Amino acid sequence: MTKLDGKTAIITGGNSGIGLATAQRFVAEGAYVFITGRRQIELDAAARQIGKNVTGVQGDVSNLADLDRLYALVKEQKRRIDVLFANAGVGEFATLAKITEEHFDKTFGINVKGLLFTVQKALPLIRDGGSIILTCSTAASKGIEGFSVYSATKAAIRSFARSWAVDLKQRKIRVNAISPGPIDTPASRQSLSGLVQSEQQKEQVRKRLVSTVPLGRMGSPDEVAKVASFLASDESSYVTGIELFVDGGQAQI
Ligand code: NAD
Repeated sequence: MTKLDGKTAIITGGNSGIGLATAQRFVAEGAYVFITGRRQIELDAAARQIGKNVTGVQGDVSNLADLDRLYALVKEQKRRIDVLFANAGVGEFATLAKITEEHFDKTFGINVKGLLFTVQKALPLIRDGGSIILTCSTAASKGIEGFSVYSATKAAIRSFARSWAVDLKQRKIRVNAISPGPIDTPASRQSLSGLVQSEQQKEQVRKRLVSTVPLGRMGSPDEVAKVASFLASDESSYVTGIELFVDGGQAQI
């Protein structure tokens, strides 16, 4: 018997990076996963990579009709949800003077509104005693130049985990946040490219970033997936409301 045997899990942003690694791990540990993402082609490729026990559902988490369509399909196919990993998120750099309304609306629309309704609309299907995991970030508790809007969205998510752990206590549903530090994913690579142009400059920024991490390297998506698996499983049966850092120590010093 494996850790997540017979469990049904939803993973938003499950076609790339941390979400994809988590989907692969959950399936290897016995779960059936529904992964979501915005682009069908990437979802199909991710489903092929996962190989079995997976359904890809195209949708934008900030679009409530897309969420309704996702959960209608889950209800039809599996009836209930054991684990919800609300992981989809975006982050772009803009210093205070350069923040636009569009930048604010997009980041809060996906990371905060999208995550809130991803969880709210799943509630009728989540079984009592189920596990909800929210992807937060070390950025929620650090000051990072040009990253204030993203960081504020993640601080909101950290707060959601505390409040929802109480809101859902009657149903014994656990709600926890995971805060990754620098993880090597398509998103983090794109962020580096957005900051600087040449390969040499990118390497310099990467070295500077890694120098802030006691373990001296970026993390892999599977290192976050292992922690998500712990919070999804009964091994964490007495854990709720926490923020679990997977950051090589970056935000702890
Ligand atoms: P990624 O770009 O590889 O994956 C992001 C996923 O979110 C993709 O599958 C994308 O399709 C999906 N997504 C984005 N906007 C969406 C939307 N509107 N609707 C549906 N899906 C959407 O990035 P990642 O690094 O794996 O990031 C995953 C999560 O981890 C994000 O919430 C991110 O903020 C967080 N995080 C990442 C790092 C890091 O260093 N990589 C650090 C801390 C937190």
